[in-house]
Parts: sequence; structure tokens; C-alpha cells
Amino acid sequence: MTSFATLILVLSLTSSAFFSHASGERNSTTGEDDDNELDSSERETEAPQGASDLIEAANTGLERLRSGPWIKFGDIAQTSTSTRNADPCTARGCTWPRSYRGYVYVPIYISRKYSRAERNVIIQSLVEFHRVSCIRFVWRRRHRDYLYFCPFTGCWSYIGRQGGRQVISLQQRRCVSRGTVQHEILHALGFHHEQSRSDRDKHVRIEANNVLPGKLSNFNKVNTNNLGTPYDYSSIMHYSRFAFSKQRGVLPTIVPIPDSKAVIGQADKMSGNDIKRLNKLYKCRGY
Ligand SMILES: [Zn+2]
Repeated sequence: MTSFATLILVLSLTSSAFFSHASGERNSTTGEDDDNELDSSERETEAPQGASDLIEAANTGLERLRSGPWIKFGDIAQTSTSTRNADPCTARGCTWPRSYRGYVYVPIYISRKYSRAERNVIIQSLVEFHRVSCIRFVWRRRHRDYLYFCPFTGCWSYIGRQGGRQVISLQQRRCVSRGTVQHEILHALGFHHEQSRSDRDKHVRIEANNVLPGKLSNFNKVNTNNLGTPYDYSSIMHYSRFAFSKQRGVLPTIVPIPDSKAVIGQADKMSGNDIKRLNKLYKCRGY
């Protein structure tokens, strides 16, 4: 219990020294703790765009990595059992287990390739989940299943717990901001894109003629579990009005209805509804 408790990630930056010691990780070339003393002044400046635009820009042309998974829906890695319309989280259990204490411990490892500032952004994005839910990210030790943050090409993630080492790719510079990190983590916790929801046609219209050739499947609906929460234009999981557009800024691909002028897909952090459904899926009490 004590050793388990010590694995819990820090809740504030002031505890970052403990964070690095708990991880047991040291720089193998210099022997120094290069993630000691995280400094809030080193936060990466976020681009003014929403997370969905940043992800799309980083993933342009990305459909299959060399010897990696296929990427569909823009940033969702496909397993060998993935099918186009099935949501793995409704087809089989793929949530992370709750402990008897009511917390959901999710082991993580962050690649040493990230700079200290990038590592800081990832950690702060993770810690935000601690503040609003019963999710607790812990350093991976001997855990079999864990999230492995690494800088492959593009920003992408699998949906739900896959078992074993599970990659979340956050390309350096392009994908390391709070919104993109939280978006990809929510995929790994079991969530699909907002505009893929089973009830999306009541809230948005997809303009198929404006979609880039070969990209229409990114707008397929999925048999999602919406957990009784409303459709949310400000979800961090919602793509922007010009996602996969033949002409960005001119030809919209996602038009909100009935108010076609409503702002959509501009979030740079989790919305209240994102948090609400996270707590519902994981049966978090008191959040
Ligand atoms: Zn996504």
C-alpha cells in the first residue's frame, strides 16, 4: 500500500523532485536527474489554435507509419481487430480498472527524448486529470499495461486500454500542448471523437462534398456510449469546422445545426462535459 501510494503522480509542480525519484529514472548518458525541479517558467507557449487543428496539421499525410499502426479518424491508431464503425469500448471492455479505493490507476512512461519543457507540459496535462476525476496516473514499474508517451510522427492514440505497452504518440513541437495531450489521453481512456457520436446528426451536418478526397471515412459515425451527456461543441474531442476540408477557411466540413454560426472544435482543454463523462465512465465518486 505504501509503495503503491508513492507511485501516485504529484499533484503539484512543487512535488516534482519526488516525481522523478518515484520514477526511478535517470538520464542514462549523463547520470543526472534531468527532470528534477520542473520549473513553471519553462512551460511551452500554446499555439492559438484549438487542439483539433493542431492535430490535423501534425498528421497531414499520416495514414500509416512505417511498421506502425494504421491511423484512421485523423489520429486513432487501429488494432488488428479494429473495424471501421465499431467502437472497441462498446464491443469489449477496454476501460482501466478501478482499485478498491475508488481510484483508477493508469501507469505511464514518458520517453526520455522529450525536452524538460515538453515533459513538463505532458505532466501538467496529466495532473489536470487528478484535479477533476478519480484517474490517477502513476509511474510504470512492473505494471503490465501502461501508456507510453513517445515522439513518433504525428499525434495519435489507441482507443481504450489495449494491454501491454500502449503508445500515445506526441510528436515533439507539433503535438505537445495541453489540448493535444488531453485529447490523446481521452482516446486512451476510452473516448472517441465528439463528431463521431451516434447522435451527431442532430447537432452537426457533415458536408461531404467539401471533404478532401479519401478523407470522408474520418467522419463515419461510431456506436459510442454517450453516458447520458449532451453533445458538446466545445469538447476537446470535437474537430473543427474545416477539418479535412478541400479549402480551409472557405469550405466547411462540419456545420453545426440549427445555429450554423456556433463555434465548434476550438477547445484547448477538456470541457465540463468531457470531465463529466470521464467521471461517469469510471464511476468516480465525489467529482
Ligand atoms: Zn482524436
